[in-house]
Amino acid sequence: MSDMLFCYCCRKHHPREQMRRFTTRSGERWRCLRSIAAARSHPGERDAFGRRQSEQNRQAAVHVAERVALLRLRHEAP
Ligand SMILES: [Zn+2]
Repeated sequence: MSDMLFCYCCRKHHPREQMRRFTTRSGERWRCLRSIAAARSHPGERDAFGRRQSEQNRQAAVHVAERVALLRLRHEAP
């Protein structure tokens, strides 16, 4: 007999080996792999936008860091 855990996504119990623990604002919850896979196969437009935005932010940060390093090098050169 395998343990059954309550899936907060389906509001049902599933075997423990099909479950993954998720930390939410209200504490630790269990979600089944099926519901995670379903969420992944239907990514919202907002998710895609968020990923694109954070990649742009990362590149902008690298760009600024490079410029600061260059300015510092020029400044410190004899
Ligand atoms: Zn489930």
